[in-house]
Amino acid sequence: MNIGIDVDSVLADLWAIAGPMMPMPIAKDEVVSWEYPCERLGISKSHFLWLLDYAWRQWESMPLQDDPAVLAEMRKLGHQVTIITRRIYGTTAPPRIAAWLHAHRIVYDNLVFVVGAQSKFAWIDCLVDDNPGLVAACTADTAQVLYLYNQPWNRWCPITTSNVKRVGCLQEVLDDLR
Ligand SMILES: [Mg+2]
Repeated sequence: MNIGIDVDSVLADLWAIAGPMMPMPIAKDEVVSWEYPCERLGISKSHFLWLLDYAWRQWESMPLQDDPAVLAEMRKLGHQVTIITRRIYGTTAPPRIAAWLHAHRIVYDNLVFVVGAQSKFAWIDCLVDDNPGLVAACTADTAQVLYLYNQPWNRWCPITTSNVKRVGCLQEVLDDLR
């Protein structure tokens, strides 16, 4: 199986860097939706996404969100690991993310940067992602499975189809695949 692994807030604890960089500090637990920081800061969604990319300028201090050793375990079981991340077109985040993956010795088979989040499904069989916007795209007719990675901004999101599963960590994905 080709397993897609999101970067921001799944592999990397992006908010640890991005939160303090916001024009007004916002604690991670306060971010109950992606709309919330936009409303609080009075900025557009695209400006917000740009700030998240901008946070990767501090890639050397970007902490891990989860244990990347689980990805090596997935590969040992014969799965392909595709690191897949949505970025704003034209920012400098992609080479910084590649450097961060290398610095943490994170193993993978493919590294894919997409512009629209939903296009992630074109590349993989199952996806681990924290974006609640992907739940609606994963219907009973969709062949792919979405593992919704628990974060404050997806806590409210109802799960109504069997191919969407909530996980608290990458190990739970591995356990489900076994
Ligand atoms: Mg993410």
